Amino acid sequence: MAHQVTLIPGDGTGPELIEATRRVLEATGVEFDWDEQPAGEDVYEDEDTPFPDRTLESLKQNKVGIKGPTTTPVGSGFRSVNVLLRKELDLYACIRPCKAYEGVRTRFPETDIVIVRENTEDLYAGIEFEEGTEENTKIRGCLDQLGSSVRDDSGISIKPISRFGSERIVEEAFSYAKAYGRKKVTAGHKANIMKFSDGLFLEVSREVAERHPDFEFEDRIIDNLCNQLVSRPSEYDVIVLPNLYGDIVSDLGAGMIGGLGMAPGGNIGTEAAVFEATHGSAPKYKGQNKVNPTALMLSGVLMLRHLEERDAADRMEGAIAEVIRKGDKVTYDLKPDRDDPTAVGTSQFADAVIEEMNK
Ligand code: NAD
Repeated sequence: MAHQVTLIPGDGTGPELIEATRRVLEATGVEFDWDEQPAGEDVYEDEDTPFPDRTLESLKQNKVGIKGPTTTPVGSGFRSVNVLLRKELDLYACIRPCKAYEGVRTRFPETDIVIVRENTEDLYAGIEFEEGTEENTKIRGCLDQLGSSVRDDSGISIKPISRFGSERIVEEAFSYAKAYGRKKVTAGHKANIMKFSDGLFLEVSREVAERHPDFEFEDRIIDNLCNQLVSRPSEYDVIVLPNLYGDIVSDLGAGMIGGLGMAPGGNIGTEAAVFEATHGSAPKYKGQNKVNPTALMLSGVLMLRHLEERDAADRMEGAIAEVIRKGDKVTYDLKPDRDDPTAVGTSQFADAVIEEMNK
């Protein structure tokens, strides 16, 4: 039976990337019943919302979606589609595999890590008090009473990390490790300084690890983890992180595997799972058939695995890896010289992957 999947082209380069990815997904032989729905800047112009209700309803009904990037203009009333999605569907875990494929220029060719980022708490919870406001004065008053004064001219952001949120993200990391034959989970934190937020995350991580004795578990202070990731990447496997560190280390991981064009992602939630690349809409390349669809295609591979289509996922990943290894039919960002005239476009890269898969 065909899988019902919500397909969100997004804006900027999103529609070209989604089209290339959709063609490759279909070429695996897996059947899809796509429900195409809008999100982002283009629909905002027509309907005054970047995220129409029908898109949310489709995701809730299908429970699986694949999404192109969406622009968040700075300084307008326009809310980030990704923040809305995360909230509405409780997408609490962001899974970001960072694997260096042969043929990609990187100083870290042995990298094969999976970052599991908590997506709802921490400094990204949006609990902020602007300098000079009444609310800021109130919160500083409370802090004063509790014996923790801060300067009058401070802006304040609160960092909540809960037992509940920590437990479900660390469980997610172990369940990923179990499902994909990984051996070790490392928890990153700064519990030596933030004893009651990161400290709780670490305490809960250890408790959860005890329930999974078949896996190695260790923890690392986040600065040391960053140092070791670039000096000894092969020592790391699955890495579970609170929201802020997860965001930063995900981009570090993308850099280690050849750039944003290579980094896929999956957002897993209680209501649905939405797969999308780590990168944004790269608007300056819109409509040019230029950018690299690998990150979105590899997000499609993650989606296939989520749909239990493991054989198709392996074939699709293998074909992408082979096209990159050969290096002749790749996009500009994967060429040693970015102005290389032999670089192919988004659509031709998809053709090369399909040809490779059909061999
Ligand atoms: P970006 O990721 O869109 O682009 C940064 C640069 O990275 C590009 O100029 C390009 O050189 C390179 N790049 C990105 N994707 C590439 C690809 N597939 N192939 C080759 N090169 C690629 O980041 P930005 O310019 O900071 O953001 C643009 C917009 O995207 C912003 O409005 C931002 O809010 C939004 N954004 C959306 C998402 C999402 O939808 N998930 C994520 C991040 C940013």
